[in-house]
Amino acid sequence: MTTSAETLEFQSEARQLLQLMIHSIYSNKDTFLRELVSNASDALDKLRLEAFRDKELQADTDDLHIEIATDPENRTLTVRDNGIGMSRDDVVALIGTIAKSGTAEFLKKLKETKDSAASQDLIGQFGIGFYASFMVADKVTLLTRRAGSDEGVRWESEGEGTYTIETVPDLPQGTSVVLHLKPEDAEDQLFDYTSATKIKQIVKKYSDFITWPIRMTEGEEVVTVNSMKALWARPSSDVTEDEYNEFYKHVAHDWNDPLETIRLQAEGTFEYQALLFLPGHAPLDLFMRERKRGVQLYVKRVFIMDDCEALMPEYLRFVKGVVDAQDLSLNVSREILQQDRQIQLIRRRLVKKVLSTVKTLMADENRYKYDTFWKEFGRAVKEGLLDDHENRTAILDICSFASTNDPEKLTSLREYVERMKDGQEHIYYLTGESRQSIENSPHLEAFQAKGYEVLVLTDPIDEMWVDAVSGYEEKQFQSVAKGEVELDSDTTDEQKEEFSGLLTWLTTTLSDQVKEVRLSSRLTTSPACIVGDTNDVTPTLEKMYRAMGQELPQIKRILELNPGHPLVSGLRSSFTEKGESEGLAETAELLYGMALLAEGGELADPARFTKLLATHLQKTL
Ligand code: ADP
Ligand code: MG
Repeated sequence: MTTSAETLEFQSEARQLLQLMIHSIYSNKDTFLRELVSNASDALDKLRLEAFRDKELQADTDDLHIEIATDPENRTLTVRDNGIGMSRDDVVALIGTIAKSGTAEFLKKLKETKDSAASQDLIGQFGIGFYASFMVADKVTLLTRRAGSDEGVRWESEGEGTYTIETVPDLPQGTSVVLHLKPEDAEDQLFDYTSATKIKQIVKKYSDFITWPIRMTEGEEVVTVNSMKALWARPSSDVTEDEYNEFYKHVAHDWNDPLETIRLQAEGTFEYQALLFLPGHAPLDLFMRERKRGVQLYVKRVFIMDDCEALMPEYLRFVKGVVDAQDLSLNVSREILQQDRQIQLIRRRLVKKVLSTVKTLMADENRYKYDTFWKEFGRAVKEGLLDDHENRTAILDICSFASTNDPEKLTSLREYVERMKDGQEHIYYLTGESRQSIENSPHLEAFQAKGYEVLVLTDPIDEMWVDAVSGYEEKQFQSVAKGEVELDSDTTDEQKEEFSGLLTWLTTTLSDQVKEVRLSSRLTTSPACIVGDTNDVTPTLEKMYRAMGQELPQIKRILELNPGHPLVSGLRSSFTEKGESEGLAETAELLYGMALLAEGGELADPARFTKLLATHLQKTL
């Protein structure tokens, strides 16, 4: 039965993407075919899997394949598969909308980008799938029937805002995509997608590794255009870099080349092959809740699942690729995989291999790859310092941090340790919200005066791992804003004696704000700074917890005074001569407020602070 055709609107993100494709400035238009073949191949994988899991499924799985047909007379190109197909609801949900997370951000960025090379790059990073058809076609007809259902669907669109959809009888199982090609571009010879020769070249170039036959009819003869060999099963000396790159684009749904390709093989009792990739850019959903992991599991060349979390830890979720294990059951489930000892062994090896690969990139003279890797994925990798105890050292080895040594360059911990001064015992760091607030922080003064380098840690994750990781190469991590620091500029016993009355009084006077007032050896030019106890939560972390809605008791820190500063010594002499007074109490409060502001903190009562300050300034006039 045919229902009358309905006209529906594309979801707005989908509409914008279509506009982009219709007026595409993306130079490599051949990619549309890779996308259609990639979808067809996925559809065949899904059908095989579903037929295997559901013995009742009324599906034809005898001769699964992809077919491409050109029709120069009518200027059409058809890509057909007899795979899983789509129901009417599927078509509306999958083709009429974009469900990819980060789409809105992508479109926003694209709008802000004015130059065309940068736009192309963004489009490539986003990886537009099915809609790429509209780069070469001014109308697309999709005919599809879901395996096991009798109802077919006909979908058609010119890509301009709406599509028509109707139910039709008697469609073969699977999906046909018919492209009504745009008029040939006289200036662009390459634009002839009705040429079978041209199509064959494109398939060979972009889709040779597809494990299903891709067929074309030449005269009377049906030929298979691709070699169908799984890349990971071929000897690595046999596979070209281009082939790896194209395979990456298929598994990662990315349009750009990967940064690095990693191959791994194990023979013997538990045989497997892995082909992994480090992408060249972070996916838009790297830090989103619904993010996925990028490794697919195959068993003896048969696709089993996407997003196989048992094979890659969360902090390496950006690694893409395929693991093909020989001895697993085809109907293995996610739950079983999580428990499986062999899978755990594979995972351990993959993780070590990924980390050691990055280490190699880091050691490379041309650091472009490592630098890109770290810029894109460093924040995720550092999560591993909390989650992956076994590989903690290996992770620390590949980390890079900003530091006070050179504002232009990141440093590895090894380099830091090599630069450590005689007598310097710890690896010093300061966490905070921005590089600028850290660099201006009074806590750094004495360290800089002594020439001690301090790591500048500004990622939220830094607040977490520094507490969990004790050290690197037997050197402890030590915050310059926490605990007592023993720099040999230490205050003398005499000073301690002199100041003790003032400090006791200040500790009581400021007891609402701080738990102690003491002398500092961190300061050279500032009068005061605020520090935490060794195990205290830092202000940034406190803020993060509160932002996440966690209740925390008020955390009081310690006010440290610089005995060498005239303001502090003046405070002491006043106190010794005249004893406590309201004026001195106000000066103490101002001193505390200044220390808080200097580290980029927020005053609890800014109005009171300014009023006090104004009163005190008046007295100087
Ligand atoms: P992606 O492949 O990255 O998911 P696409 O735009 O290429 O994005 O395709 C969107 C979705 O449409 C696919 O995920 C799939 O569910 C469905 N689809 C596309 N082509 C086919 C096909 N030939 N057979 C079955 N489903 C398909
Ligand atoms: Mg696709």
